[in-house]
Amino acid sequence: MKPSSPNHDLSTLSCQHLSGVGQRIAERLARVGVYCVQDLLFHLPSRYQDRTRLYPIATITPGDHVVIEGDIITVSTPKAGRTKLLCRLEDATGRIHLRFFYLSTQQMKSLKVGTKLRCYGEVRLGMYGMEMIHPEYSLVTQEVIIPVDENLTPIYPTTEGLSQRTWRKLIAQALQLMTSGSLLQDILPTAVLQKLSFPTLTEALHFVHSPPSDAPLELLIEKKHGSQKRLVFEELLAHRLSLLNLKNLFQVQQAIPLPKTSTLTTQFLQLLSFQLTSAQQKVNEEIDNDLCRAHPMLRLVQGDVGSGKTVVAALAVLQAVGQGCQSAVLAPTELLVDQHCNTFKKWFEPLGIKVVMLSGQVKTALRREVLNDIATGQAQVVIGTQAIFQKGIAFSKLALIIVDEQHRFGVQQRALLREKGVHENHYPHQLIMTATPIPRTLAMSVYADLDCSIIDELPPGRTPVVTRVISNDRRDEVLARIKDACKSGRQAYWVCTLIEESDVLQCQAAEETAATLHAALPELKVALIHGRMKSSEKEQIMHAFKNGEIHLLVATTVIEVGVDVPKASLMVIENAERLGLAQLHQLRGRVGRGAIESHCLLLYQAPIAKFAKERLAVMRETTDGFKIAQRDLELRGPGEVLGTKQTGDIALRIADLVRDSDLFPAVQQVANTFLQNYQELVTPLIKRWLRDSERFGQV
Ligand code: ADP
Ligand code: MG
Repeated sequence: MKPSSPNHDLSTLSCQHLSGVGQRIAERLARVGVYCVQDLLFHLPSRYQDRTRLYPIATITPGDHVVIEGDIITVSTPKAGRTKLLCRLEDATGRIHLRFFYLSTQQMKSLKVGTKLRCYGEVRLGMYGMEMIHPEYSLVTQEVIIPVDENLTPIYPTTEGLSQRTWRKLIAQALQLMTSGSLLQDILPTAVLQKLSFPTLTEALHFVHSPPSDAPLELLIEKKHGSQKRLVFEELLAHRLSLLNLKNLFQVQQAIPLPKTSTLTTQFLQLLSFQLTSAQQKVNEEIDNDLCRAHPMLRLVQGDVGSGKTVVAALAVLQAVGQGCQSAVLAPTELLVDQHCNTFKKWFEPLGIKVVMLSGQVKTALRREVLNDIATGQAQVVIGTQAIFQKGIAFSKLALIIVDEQHRFGVQQRALLREKGVHENHYPHQLIMTATPIPRTLAMSVYADLDCSIIDELPPGRTPVVTRVISNDRRDEVLARIKDACKSGRQAYWVCTLIEESDVLQCQAAEETAATLHAALPELKVALIHGRMKSSEKEQIMHAFKNGEIHLLVATTVIEVGVDVPKASLMVIENAERLGLAQLHQLRGRVGRGAIESHCLLLYQAPIAKFAKERLAVMRETTDGFKIAQRDLELRGPGEVLGTKQTGDIALRIADLVRDSDLFPAVQQVANTFLQNYQELVTPLIKRWLRDSERFGQV
């Protein structure tokens, strides 16, 4: 270590202070958000290896990661396959194969019969019994006895150019500084630690970075050790506080109040062909309360597919119109933009309200006109994809933004949107609508900055969809069902799923399926819709499907959200096992919209894993989106449920929203205590855990 005075503040002390950290390493550390020594200490191991003891070969089983030692008794170089060298290793208790994939000539030479090896690796069951696949190894000679490690070996998440060795060396120095009296603030008050029986921060960090050899490995691996739980708790607390902070910040911002003008609303409800359900009324009132205030609304409306969110959105838009303000309605796909545009025009034009659509497909001359209408305020309602905000569209007086069906809509997007919508120091109200039911515990931690409303009732007259899980072998039966249904005047969807990243491949596969179905069912009108078609083409096809001119619509998952065709009563989903339950639920929501009984057939490719079949069975058993989401959460994890894996919206380091959900109530409680009694600790805590927190703080 470089010479130093002992009492540093580790939250400001740069990593460059440590020995072995020059410009180059510092840059690499910065890539993973590590700048100060405190950052290093909070760079937590993702897993552990146990190299603290030697295992007799007879005691190990497939799946173990262990150290073994023995003599090479045979060596062979297989002709086929990737294996370069196959050895047999023997100790006093048993034998195992070692399979090496790449070795230098020097290494090849050293691995010969009679050599004693110490190996570390994963044990698997191979063709000849137990194997270790490409183990790390060292030669054991009479003179040098290699000691086993004293502590469990932490494995750190890393980036190119930073080896595990480097991490370990740097973190060891950081721990050293921490224990020799440098400042690392324990942000959790003693009372909280005692109540939850948590160790101190120093103890916890020491333990997770350098667990003693007798530490319970199982617990550690599952991240359920007390030291880990303490850190998990801190992390969840930091996230919750950052969201609550954000919420408080919004509450002092200004917005244009949008109280109801009774004439418009009454007129609208009179023209509407149905009565609002009581759930819709309740949510409408909650929104109304928000909109009357001079601060921006930030409300999430959850409602299962078909629960009637659109009309609730329309009522909010009317309040903006009534106050002479504009609204923007954002949908994730052009298909949905088209549909909303038609719905809103149908509802609003009789009331003399101008609705315009802004999509990539709107061409130059028309586009100029539309932009002009938006800038002058002529257009009161603007419908488009999120892209409309990226192009710096000028509104005359935007007061309300509605975001429909965006499950990939995180804190950052929400923040960005309000920034874009700000006008003369007034922020727009935001209403976010989703059919992806979010289990309550999860919503509490991920959407703590939003107020939530739930439409927990479907409009009357719906018949639940009957779901069946069918093997692909029985395709003929499925085709017969489609034929029957279409002959009796119904319509059907056939959904192709291909989890390739490539849009192109997905569309090709759909094209092939459509051709095959067309050949197999010559008496039916089959059409295809997919994400790469022009918006006008898609619109034309959807229009024809709605009018009953198409019997069978072959589609990629573009029809996943929002599309509404009441006469379609049969849906076939191919390779259903590849999709998440939430997504299947969304797809299935496209049928069962009229009074006729609807069916959903989930085709799977046999053979199918028991686990996958269990998941599909959930779909058969329930049509309740919340139950499905809860199961999906248990089976797949929150990143999938929220669709945030890609956007990294809730990038947690040690906490796991499913595993650690038992901590949520305590987190919620302590967060409130912090806001009341420990305001000064909030910022340091958030900074420690959310390194890019400034971004949240600024908005
Ligand atoms: P989602 O919540 O999935 O967005 P929609 O708003 O598209 O649902 O509504 C689904 C269908 O139900 C639409 O055809 C809509 O007109 C109809 N609908 C909505 N509310 C009611 C109601 N209260 N009574 C009858 N039908 C309704
Ligand atoms: Mg909808």
